[in-house]
Amino acid sequence: MGAIDLHARASRDFAAKLEATKALLRRAAAEFAPVTQASSLGAEDVVITHLINALELDIPVFVLETGKLHPQTLALLERTRASSRAAVKVYSPVQEQVIAFVAREGEDAMYRSLDLRKACCYIRKIEPLQRALAGHKAWITGLRREQSGARAEVPFIEPDGERSKINPLADWTWGDVWHYIQAEGVDYNPLHDEFYPSIGCAPCTRAISLGEDFRAGRWWWEQESAKECGLHVKTDTNEKETA
Ligand code: SF4
Repeated sequence: MGAIDLHARASRDFAAKLEATKALLRRAAAEFAPVTQASSLGAEDVVITHLINALELDIPVFVLETGKLHPQTLALLERTRASSRAAVKVYSPVQEQVIAFVAREGEDAMYRSLDLRKACCYIRKIEPLQRALAGHKAWITGLRREQSGARAEVPFIEPDGERSKINPLADWTWGDVWHYIQAEGVDYNPLHDEFYPSIGCAPCTRAISLGEDFRAGRWWWEQESAKECGLHVKTDTNEKETA
């Protein structure tokens, strides 16, 4: 049984949510330009990219290719680049920094300490993210309130340092996401069919078991409170999380 069979269940007010999401994306393109979508190629992000393309919005998409993504994610990236009307840009880490870090700490440094894991995330994700966001007034993410306790109050639009962060699926359920994927025939990462609800780098993502939390498969060896990587920073409290 695949992810669509398991999860696709629209909320009663899904049609209204979808219209509000479309309106927010149109507003993002009109009022927040230049704006860009950050895509991890997860289920939420492929929905947003599909909407950007369907609405013919001038919103380019970017993907952080950390050098540690699953082959299934890389294959989806290639299919997305080939099929997307909106530009899909790929940002990679600075190779000299990766080589120096791996030579010093080893390929599996992320398992040894939180500091080393965050150092790896900084080189492979945060620095490329800063380059991807440079010059943009706003960015669009797939954050949803349902994803974790830390995200329970995600607003549709929030300040994020000098720019704004727009979260058009903030009130969507997991069932809504998969209902949209099913209804629109959206291409998605086949790892979702193997019980990976949240997909990041291969060494730091595992499948989850029945009843486990949505993000239990991300940095599963760490305390729950530490499990973010710095992509989503709460600027008011300086609290950092990593997508
Ligand atoms: S998620 Fe893991 S492999 Fe990817 S950048 Fe962070 S520590 Fe490194």
